[in-house]
Amino acid sequence: MHRRSQFILRRHLSHLHFHSGEPASHTFPRSIPPPCSTAISFRVCDSIPPMATFGLADYDDLLRGCTRRRAIKEGRVIHAHMIKSHFVTSVRLANRLLVMYVKGGSLEDARQVLDGMSQRDVISWTAMMSGYSQHGRSFEALEQLPRMLRTGILPNEYTLATVLPSCTGHSGQDHGRQIHSLAVKSNFDSHMFVGSSLLDMYSKVGEVKDARRVFNMLPHRDVVSCTAIISGYAQSGLDEEALKVFQQLQREGMECNYVTFVSLLTAIAGLAALDFGRQVHGLVIRSELLFYVVLDNSLIDMYSKCGSLKHSRRVFDNMPERSVISWNTMLMGYGKHGLGREVVQLFKSMFREVKPNGVTFLAVLSGCSHGGLIDEGLDIFGYMVSDQRLKPEIGHYGCLVDLLGRAGRIEEALDVIKNMPYEPTSALWNSLLGACRLHAKISIGEVVARKLLDMEPDNASNYVILSNIYAASGRWQDVARVRESMKLKKLTKEPGRSSIQLDKVMHIFFSSDRSHPRRKEIFDKITEVCERIKAAGYVPDLSCVLHDVDDEQKESILLGHSEKLAIAFGLMGNACRESIRITKNLRICIDCHNFAKYVSNVYQMEISLRDSSRFHLVAGGACSCGDYW
Ligand code: ZN
Ligand code: ZN
Repeated sequence: MHRRSQFILRRHLSHLHFHSGEPASHTFPRSIPPPCSTAISFRVCDSIPPMATFGLADYDDLLRGCTRRRAIKEGRVIHAHMIKSHFVTSVRLANRLLVMYVKGGSLEDARQVLDGMSQRDVISWTAMMSGYSQHGRSFEALEQLPRMLRTGILPNEYTLATVLPSCTGHSGQDHGRQIHSLAVKSNFDSHMFVGSSLLDMYSKVGEVKDARRVFNMLPHRDVVSCTAIISGYAQSGLDEEALKVFQQLQREGMECNYVTFVSLLTAIAGLAALDFGRQVHGLVIRSELLFYVVLDNSLIDMYSKCGSLKHSRRVFDNMPERSVISWNTMLMGYGKHGLGREVVQLFKSMFREVKPNGVTFLAVLSGCSHGGLIDEGLDIFGYMVSDQRLKPEIGHYGCLVDLLGRAGRIEEALDVIKNMPYEPTSALWNSLLGACRLHAKISIGEVVARKLLDMEPDNASNYVILSNIYAASGRWQDVARVRESMKLKKLTKEPGRSSIQLDKVMHIFFSSDRSHPRRKEIFDKITEVCERIKAAGYVPDLSCVLHDVDDEQKESILLGHSEKLAIAFGLMGNACRESIRITKNLRICIDCHNFAKYVSNVYQMEISLRDSSRFHLVAGGACSCGDYW
């Protein structure tokens, strides 16, 4: 646009801005006049001061500027100006307006523009879908596709790639398949954008076979799609498949960079799939990428999350160069396994090489807490504040509360919470509540539980702990009251899920799972295990069940907990196995913890159980957590 016309328009727009009286958005008519191909005339309304004639190119320029700067307020003024001057717009300019509103996040205005257009093209529809999709309004994004098809307009590759991310949730898979068949009909299915979106959609909804099919169709594969399919497989527990894709890509000569390996290792760590992790480590060595510090850090993390600290330490020791993150990852690993002594020792030796940071202290303090080193932990907290002059963050206070709570110094822990410069989080109260349960501090426990129930009235586990506290002190009426309020709120716990890897296959169990092909054998095994450990002194802790049922049913509910199913399944396998590794999505309950301890003693089996907060290494009837978690 010419400088002169820009100047004039800006002057007039500022007039408009002050004189229009009401917000511009209220002055929008429902529809925009139909497009006109002839020269555009510019009529001046009474309310607007007279100004020079402006054409399509001028408005186009201005709207583009507004879009770039996300200047939605100014864009509205221009829109109002177009309407008031009865400017007859074209599809292209209306699209410009639509895009301006979409990018500015004003989807309602964008929708008014779209609905008001008497002629639309594929860009109009795609822009609207993209707006809805980016704002997570999946339903509305999907709704536009049949609307568009009914007007006879066909999608292009961008339309399909834009709308596919909205295929989520319950019906996501069905919608995704329909769009896939539309892509096939319109010959866009092997287009890179569409293919990647299809791949992503199928991976997210867990349809890994379809993802694989799409993947094989893609003419050009890059590292980013490679990573998507691998993590899709890994998240679905199909680590074998993930490794196969990975190996296939390597055979095809595709260069995998360290980012691919890092995401692969992260997925493996999440699954605790040690065998797979070892194979990938071998590939990393052969790919000569080993000396990437980030990659080595991922290896340390993967091994420690898979329960093999020996391998973590080997990677750590062989690193030619270590960052503070390497040290922190190793410290975190020891801490989660409850090896407090190793944490403190490693911490002391790190000063030769790097300076510790806030995360280091978090790792060391939580390591001391998980390892039961109360005095050492308290000393290190003091050292951090006075010698290192680091300002403790909420996480550090959390560790301090945990340390004091574990030592039974509940009142001091409460003082820390009251005097710290942060709002206590529910995690912090939760840790104190656990300490109250362990040390049978009923009155403080009750206060803390009430606070937690205020903060998270819908979290079923708070009710469970409160009821555990009452049950431990024989206050059965209060137990009943808690149970009743939970029933009134219709609360249910998030379903427990445990996984166990046996002979390179990942088996996943849900609580009271009756879907496993070998369910009959598993339930027989659990009954047998239960009889044997009962003879050794195991008594089911019925206070862990909040359902209003008789004791026999309570016991059968307890036996259905996912980690017990996984333990029984582990015992069923190879008889010469010495240890079983289980991963659980929630915190282990008191009863399952006790069950695992008895099993480890009676069956001479080491059980490594990773729950949502830490590792429990159960052997010889005792757990590394010291019954505090
Ligand atoms: Zn349990
Ligand atoms: Zn434990």
